Amino acid sequence: MILVLLLDFNNLRKVDTSKILMELFKDIKNIDDPGKQPSYIPELTHVDPNKFGVHISTIENFHSGVGDFQERFSIQSIAKVLALSLAYRMQGEKIWERIGVEPSGTPFNSLVQLEADKGIPRNPFINAGALVISDLLISSLKNPKEEFLAFVRDAANNPTIDYSSKIAESEKTAGFRNVALCNFIKALGNIQNDPNEVLDFYFHLCSIEMSCEELSQLFLFLANNGMKLNEEKEVLTANQCKRVNALMQTCGFYDESGEFAFKVGLPGKSGVGGGIIAVHPNQYAIAVWSPKLNPKGNSFKGMQFLEAFTTKTHSSIF
Ligand code: GLU
Repeated sequence: MILVLLLDFNNLRKVDTSKILMELFKDIKNIDDPGKQPSYIPELTHVDPNKFGVHISTIENFHSGVGDFQERFSIQSIAKVLALSLAYRMQGEKIWERIGVEPSGTPFNSLVQLEADKGIPRNPFINAGALVISDLLISSLKNPKEEFLAFVRDAANNPTIDYSSKIAESEKTAGFRNVALCNFIKALGNIQNDPNEVLDFYFHLCSIEMSCEELSQLFLFLANNGMKLNEEKEVLTANQCKRVNALMQTCGFYDESGEFAFKVGLPGKSGVGGGIIAVHPNQYAIAVWSPKLNPKGNSFKGMQFLEAFTTKTHSSIF
C-alpha cells in the first residue's frame, strides 16, 4: 500500500503537480476567509490581506509555484526552525537540558506553564522556547545577528535574504508578552544574557523576509536528511534532522499541532506573517503564504491549501 502511494506521488510530481497546485489555488483563493491579521505587530497589518502564494520544491529538483510565490513576507516563527537548527548544530544534545520536546497545548505566547516547569519551556517553537534558543545562540556567537543571518543565507544559497528592521522595530514597540516571557525566564534562571539583547535578537530573527519559493528551497535540507540539495554539505546530521522534523510534526502549530497532523499530515511550521512551511521527508518541501490567521495564529487559507494538497496527491506521511 505504501509503495502504491509513493508511486502515485512520483507520477504526479512528474506530470501533474503544477496543474494540481493551480487547481487547488483557484479553489481556495475564492473561499471566504474569516481570518484576521495580527495587530500586536502593527507593521504586519499593512500587508495586503489578499496575498496568496504557494511553492513546492522536491528533492528531485522539480520546482513549481503559483500566485504571489515570489513575493517576500515576514516569516516570523518559521525562523524558529532555523534558530533551533543552528543551536543544535553548534551545541548538540546539551540544548535539551534547557528546553523540552513536548507539545505545549497552549498558545504560542503563553506564560502559564513556565512557573510549574521551572523556566524550562516545553519546546523550541513556542515563544518561550525560541527565547531560550536565542539566549543559547547569543552565548555561542560573537556577532549573533550577523552570524545567524549568514547561516540562513548559506543554507538558502541566497545572499540577499535579510532582516526587516521595520518589522523588528514594530514588534519591539508592542511585543509586551515577549518582554514578560523573557524576563520571567530570566528570573527562573534559564536566560543567561541580558533580556534586552535576547529580545532584540529574537525580534530580528522573526523579522526575516523570504518568499514561498525561497522558503521551499531552503527547507529542502529537512527533506534531504539534513543535507543541502545538490551539494555534499551538511546543515544537520541525519539524526538531528529526524528530530527537528519530529518537533515540527508535534509542536509546529502550537495548540493546533494535532489538527495540522490530522488534516495535513506533514511536519511543518507556521508564522504569524501568514506563512507555513511543510516538509515531506525524502520527497519535498512546500511553502504557502496567506496573511489572514485563524484564532490559533495559523494562516487560514494556508492550512486549507495544505490539507487539500496532501489529500489530493496522497502525499502526507501517514
Ligand atoms: N514574532 C512573533 C511573536 O513572538 C512570532 C509568533 C509566530 O509567528 O507564531 O509573537
